[in-house]
Amino acid sequence: MLQKITSSILYMPAEERTDRPVLGVVSGKQMSLIIDSGNSPAHARQFIKKLSTSRVPPPRLMGITHWHWDHTFGMSVWDIPTIAHVDTQKGLEVLREYSWDDESLDERVEQGLEIEFCAEMIKKEFAWDRDQIKIKLPEIIFPERLRIDLGGLTCLIERVGGDHEPGSTVFYIPEEKVLFLGDCLGPDLYAPKYYYSIDKFLGLLEKLRGYGAGTYVSSHGDPESREGLESEMKQWEEIARIVEKRGADYEGILSKLKESLGREPTQDDREMVEYLINGLEMKKNRT
Ligand SMILES: [Zn+2]
Repeated sequence: MLQKITSSILYMPAEERTDRPVLGVVSGKQMSLIIDSGNSPAHARQFIKKLSTSRVPPPRLMGITHWHWDHTFGMSVWDIPTIAHVDTQKGLEVLREYSWDDESLDERVEQGLEIEFCAEMIKKEFAWDRDQIKIKLPEIIFPERLRIDLGGLTCLIERVGGDHEPGSTVFYIPEEKVLFLGDCLGPDLYAPKYYYSIDKFLGLLEKLRGYGAGTYVSSHGDPESREGLESEMKQWEEIARIVEKRGADYEGILSKLKESLGREPTQDDREMVEYLINGLEMKKNRT
């Protein structure tokens, strides 16, 4: 069975073992829209099987949050048109040229073109048959935003960008106040060190608040309430402000953070500090 967010929005939860993201289905009276394709044909088929017993209107369209493998390698299984931002199309055109055997993957990790974590996960998800990887390109390409009428229910598909991937796209269902975030809140992983740039990150948080969503769905976690994400956002903003003021002083930032949060910084807080500092260093190296 699929999990329910509202009566018209269901999802299959993320699976950490091979980095399978959340797959969503948004249903109007006439048709359903699928959000993200799965990280492999097997993952896509698992979702299709669950869909077939969920009594939702037929899936007629698929939307993609961004080009990263775990969101797109299931596309070849679906025979419905795919909607994607122009950057997602470009990203997939690059992937189409690649080979996926161990040697090619390792070589790209060496060259900094592939992330070690992703290469490892691809090897695990496609342990037996790497020939199954067939990159399909999207059919419907939009520059900034698109509104789909599913029959009594609309879906606003909009690029929000951010550090994780410039083409990061969110899916907002205003009637239900549900916002699918993809990975947009993540750091940039395709760099020598994972990083966030302070301005971009704070701008993204402001933009996401603007939707007025009541439920947020990130691709690699459980759905969260507005209150849950808002309290996390406030902490991230506090961390970003401290890093902005203190620069690369990791220990100084942590003790200031402990003071302002009134508790010991968690592993997630520390990571956030680290990625923000990496962002400052990247910026310094560029100028
Ligand atoms: Zn991603």
